[in-house]
Amino acid sequence: MSRLYTNGWVITMDGSGAEHPSGWVLVEEGVITGVGGGEEPLAHERIDVHGAVVTPGLVNTHHHLYQTLTRARAQQADLFTWLRELYPVWSRIDAETEYAAARTGIAELALSGCSTVFDHHYVFPRGRDGLIEAEVQAALELGMRIVASRGSMDLGVSDGGLPPDELVEELDAVLAETERLAAAIHEPGPGARVQLAVAPCSPFSVTTRLMEESAALARRLRLLLHTHLAETVEEDAYCHELYGCTPVEYLERVGWVSHDVWCAHCVHLSEADVASFGKAGVGVAHCPTSNLRLGAGIAPVRDLVDAGARVGLGVDGSASNERGDLFLEVKQAVLVARARGGPEALTAREALWLATRGGADVLRRDDIGSLEVGKQADLAIWRTDGLELGGAEDAVTGLVFSGPHRVDRLVVGGEDVVRGGALVRADEADIAREHRAQARRFAA
Ligand SMILES: [Zn+2]
Repeated sequence: MSRLYTNGWVITMDGSGAEHPSGWVLVEEGVITGVGGGEEPLAHERIDVHGAVVTPGLVNTHHHLYQTLTRARAQQADLFTWLRELYPVWSRIDAETEYAAARTGIAELALSGCSTVFDHHYVFPRGRDGLIEAEVQAALELGMRIVASRGSMDLGVSDGGLPPDELVEELDAVLAETERLAAAIHEPGPGARVQLAVAPCSPFSVTTRLMEESAALARRLRLLLHTHLAETVEEDAYCHELYGCTPVEYLERVGWVSHDVWCAHCVHLSEADVASFGKAGVGVAHCPTSNLRLGAGIAPVRDLVDAGARVGLGVDGSASNERGDLFLEVKQAVLVARARGGPEALTAREALWLATRGGADVLRRDDIGSLEVGKQADLAIWRTDGLELGGAEDAVTGLVFSGPHRVDRLVVGGEDVVRGGALVRADEADIAREHRAQARRFAA
């Protein structure tokens, strides 16, 4: 059974940057079997997208889905103050609330054209099992790909860390649980719907030993490593105080400046840090709205890309970016890069590349992120006939500059997840209602 999406402005994100203004994409068995412009191939089903822009499904490289339960708190706080206010609230999480939170966060991402969700979950109150399983279930039910992670915190406040002691875990328990989850859910090959990463939370909430042991475990199990890094000036000061070095020097010390690692934020990097990330092929999840919301600063994305670092985009958790819309981050990436480096710092197409091919590279996925023969059929289809795109001859730049937009159709592995701007496998109003009921448990 083949399906042809035709009469679209196809943005392939292949190595040559090919675009087909009157293009088509042919899909069979969930995989792309043809892409081009001009004469159409025959197919069992022909879908005319009427001049819509067709991009690869977007890839989100940093999120905390549970945070949809606690939006708009600590509204004028820096990162550490914000965290100290929220840790005790987050300690109420359980599998039921995590499931409702994940359904909301994943639905929001799907409606913004995102087909692959990475989630960094690091809050594991004692005795609450099944949190990762709950978010994986939510992703599969909605039809999305998920890269989940077993996050961790083992450096409580009494040992000089930031989180309260009751929210930190024992190192051995973290490693055992990570290994159990890897065996239970991680799919290694192309087309994977569920993967797992190893993700100790941050230098200020994790011991050096757990950073090192996490790396050893991940490398033994062939999983990727992820953490938060160099997000704020306070973190920089904390690292100097506790470890006598910068966050990137600390990362080097624990053996993490490597091609199998990606870090969220990386706002406060020196020129030498940027060069070292580029040389080692470290990945970066750039989260512009969250960085603006917490007043953290602007990451040197142009420099990182030029240095050869792998860079993708992330919405970050909904407690520091209340809008979990990845297409909005494409626009934000352009705007903050230009605020930092002038009008030529980043183009709309480069930002879209970060959100698709860049994100796939960050997650070390060569089966998604571009529209090429042999890749997974993950497509986002964007209408161009609305009010905001009138007069935009370059519909691609117009789309980015006038974002965010609700995606018209989202296809994941050849199957519709969003059609006509609505979720196919769940009712948006039901998700919102169930989420509100669960969020009440997190009220002050
Ligand atoms: Zn984060």
